[in-house]
Amino acid sequence: MKELKGYSAAELEEKLKQEGFAGYRARQIFNWLYSNLAAAPEEMNNLPENLKDWLRENLSYHLLELKEEKRAADGTINFLWRLKDGRLIESVLLPQRDSDKFTACISSQVGCQLGCKFCATGLQGWERDLTAGEIVDQVWQSAAYLKRTVRTAEDSRNNEKGIRNLVFMGMGEPLLNYQAVRQAVEILGSKEGFNIGSRRITISTAGIIPGIKKMSRDMPQVELALSLHAANDRLRSRLVPLNKKYNLQQLHQALGEYLAVTGRRITVEYALIQEVNDSEKQARELVDWLEGLTAFVNLIPLNPVEGQKFEGSTEGRIEKFKKILFQAGYPVQIRQSRGQEIKAACGQLKETGVEKSE
Ligand code: SAH
Ligand code: SF4
Repeated sequence: MKELKGYSAAELEEKLKQEGFAGYRARQIFNWLYSNLAAAPEEMNNLPENLKDWLRENLSYHLLELKEEKRAADGTINFLWRLKDGRLIESVLLPQRDSDKFTACISSQVGCQLGCKFCATGLQGWERDLTAGEIVDQVWQSAAYLKRTVRTAEDSRNNEKGIRNLVFMGMGEPLLNYQAVRQAVEILGSKEGFNIGSRRITISTAGIIPGIKKMSRDMPQVELALSLHAANDRLRSRLVPLNKKYNLQQLHQALGEYLAVTGRRITVEYALIQEVNDSEKQARELVDWLEGLTAFVNLIPLNPVEGQKFEGSTEGRIEKFKKILFQAGYPVQIRQSRGQEIKAACGQLKETGVEKSE
């Protein structure tokens, strides 16, 4: 069965017309679904009964079921969802510092085939891609959860959904599930849909060059983050095996083209691993590699992953690393990982077992 949450407004309008319904009904459905977070077609009061029946019989509505939810002291909320086939995925809501809104960190695949050495998802391997509907539903279900639990009556009256930014930094490599991610961005970003503007959506990649090229063409407003972690090929190939396919020089060139086409800035993510990639020499390698790119650098002390010998860098080493970038003129920040005690931080997401649906 097709998934309602996988349709863009224009596609749904087309489909409804084909089925003999008025095209404007698509807008009404979108309004119920994404502005009101209606939990079922029955709630869509201004739709005719035969359209509600059609929706029930032809399109699946909810694609995720909340299996577990954990809250950390810092306000981070970690969700474990069960998909229709029994597989499990995670997403995280991170409270924003300067507002009462959240950033949703969502998954694009069940597992990941790229096998980065310091990443819990990478260690798990790849099982399948998520559909556009499953990607959208992570945000939908998270918003519905906030509405049920965290938001005040005031917020609900203002019709605020509580989620302001979106990052594809959960499980999986978004640019290896390009079509579904693009479709989800369309639905979540559009005014008729979730209305999280493209500029508030970030796609993070380990460096899939064809995907970066496509992004500059199809989604020039969406933010791009590159997970670099090392600026010499030998080390990067060890940490991020994808580097053997797309090396640093090729990546640099692709990003230069991306910046020329989009006129934007990229974010470079660098997880600092104690005595692996955090020396002053390695910071200077990073400065050299960044030459010619408009970039913002996020330094993330590595989050520990079970069964891995890697450790996050000490504060002193992080500060020295940061200083070198700063003195070279790059905007740089240390991103403190949050939600660590509930394993909701970057690279700590992995499914804990597969459940078969009855
Ligand atoms: N596959 C994409 C997006 C998901 S990973 C990518 O790699 O960019 C999201 C971010 O978490 C990436 O920047 C990734 O490198 C980082 N990450 C993975 N494991 C980590 C860990 N143990 N500690 C800190 N960051 C980690
Ligand atoms: Fe995949 Fe990203 Fe983890 Fe690497 S860091 S294994 S690309 S999810």
